[in-house]
Amino acid sequence: MLNIVIFGAPGSGKGTQSERIVAQYGINHISTGDVLRAEIKNGTELGKTAKGYIDQGQLLPDNLIIDMLAAKLDSFKDSKGVIFDGFPRTIAQAEALKQMLAERGQKVSVMLDLDVPEDELMKRLILRGQQSGRADDNEETIKKRLVVYHSQTAPLIEWYKNEGLYAHINGLGALETITADICKAIDAVK
Ligand code: AMP
Repeated sequence: MLNIVIFGAPGSGKGTQSERIVAQYGINHISTGDVLRAEIKNGTELGKTAKGYIDQGQLLPDNLIIDMLAAKLDSFKDSKGVIFDGFPRTIAQAEALKQMLAERGQKVSVMLDLDVPEDELMKRLILRGQQSGRADDNEETIKKRLVVYHSQTAPLIEWYKNEGLYAHINGLGALETITADICKAIDAVK
């Protein structure tokens, strides 16, 4: 089983690269952001709660996200593995993921840190907002999301280094080059 955590700041290319990894390795994809946006679209209770946090650029409470992730994980049948995109975002979530996988006799294979300079992140997110109309891709909310990333999410880099699972990926450059670097890191742990 390949359990890959794709990590990085908002706009680092996690979603784009996840699609390519799914196509290459035939594993399942969980994007917590996509699940939440679907809940909002469907007008569910979770969606209503999520919208308040997302519009403010804040993280949802860990327990909500962890329960949602466990349900999604159990919905996969005959899975060859999973790419976790946008999760974990806090140390508590990383610990919950470790435990959740251990209960299923599994572990995280590798954490891929897509490293992109801050000015480039801002450019990409503003462009994405114009193209996709994603409500949280506006300058004010992007700034808040980057602050949240640095304070709550970036500490996971050290956490995964301590677990011996960290792989640095240069997230700047041609899509194909980045995918090739990612595949090298995955193949090294396969
Ligand atoms: P994303 O599409 O991954 O950029 O996520 C969009 C928004 O969804 C984030 O800014 C958070 O408000 C929320 N979100 C997504 N994943 C998580 C998570 N793992 N923990 C808490 N909030 C999350």
